[in-house]
Amino acid sequence: MTHAFDPTGGKPGQVRFFLPGPVWVRDAVRQAMAHEAIGHRGKAFADLYSRIPPRLAQVFRTTGFVFTTTSAGTGLWEAALLNLMPGRILALASGAFSERWAGCARDLGLAVDVLEAPWGSAIDPADVRRALERGRYDAVTVVHSETSTGTLNDLAAVARTVRESSDAFVLADVVTSVAGSPVECDDWGLDFALTGSQKAFALPPGLGLAFASDRFRARAKDCSKAHYLRLSEAEAFAAKHQTPYTPSTPHLFALDVQLDHILTETVEARWARHDALRRRVAAWAAERGHSYPAPEGARSWTVSCVKPRPGVSAEALVARVKERGFTIGGGYGKWKASTFRIGHMGDVDLASLEALLAALDESAGEAAA
Ligand code: PLP
Repeated sequence: MTHAFDPTGGKPGQVRFFLPGPVWVRDAVRQAMAHEAIGHRGKAFADLYSRIPPRLAQVFRTTGFVFTTTSAGTGLWEAALLNLMPGRILALASGAFSERWAGCARDLGLAVDVLEAPWGSAIDPADVRRALERGRYDAVTVVHSETSTGTLNDLAAVARTVRESSDAFVLADVVTSVAGSPVECDDWGLDFALTGSQKAFALPPGLGLAFASDRFRARAKDCSKAHYLRLSEAEAFAAKHQTPYTPSTPHLFALDVQLDHILTETVEARWARHDALRRRVAAWAAERGHSYPAPEGARSWTVSCVKPRPGVSAEALVARVKERGFTIGGGYGKWKASTFRIGHMGDVDLASLEALLAALDESAGEAAA
């Protein structure tokens, strides 16, 4: 791929860190975090925060409300549920993270039915339609890019199906998709979409980023049982360019810098770069006899979950490539021993990915199963 824009900000070919989050962070972003302290009720903070939502909205592709929290992505799973306090939930599950979101809802005392698809497969919207015809649901939870299996669900089709079949709220985990592959909050009719800073936004971990639709916010005004992550508070303070509670200001300085970087590259070019990276991994895997659990056409653009060819141990491969200076993800949960995962999201460039693939080739001979 020829790309005039240097995503690495001066370190082309030098990225060696390929976890599916947290991801490699550019020098300029790390340096932005070293900004001197400011108070979060003063003018300097309001100036900073006034710049965040309008550009964040461009990445989430919405003209609606976006906000930040000082929390992990999991905090925003809770925020989606506690602000809505839905009646029965239909949780779409096909991997570790979607199962965990269902578990989160159960922990909060909510009624959950799980619509399960085998790990690695994508959720079939026809199954969603049938489930919505059989039962009455107030909300549907869906993970767009299942980081544990490398599967990309057709979020647009799932959301459309929910809209056509019910008036349930569509709560979407776009943790490893937004800013790395197409997510259209407005066009797809999502009600809530959430991510964490340590994924395709390529910031250090610690910040939650989310979108909430008008109807979600209207409902939340009456129903919310959240305190720390109460949406109406976030909205009231956002009007003053503030956050309700003490934010991680260093993260917001970093986000300020990174939003400029993302919009200079352009959101579409960022998607295209991720698309090229995942296609390169797929071509390499096919040449080497490695396979994918996720079906073609339903693979994440930001994380490739690969099953090594017979005779190669995934765990040994992760360890051997680490000795060569490259960090990749092992398999997740019940796939820990049988797969490895390459995170190619954020500001990774193709030359760095090529170096990783060469190191994996060298390592494969030393990683006998
Ligand atoms: N959802 C998905 C799809 C993820 O990949 C992750 C983390 O990897 C999470 C949720 C949880 O995010 P956090 O660790 O920021 O709570």
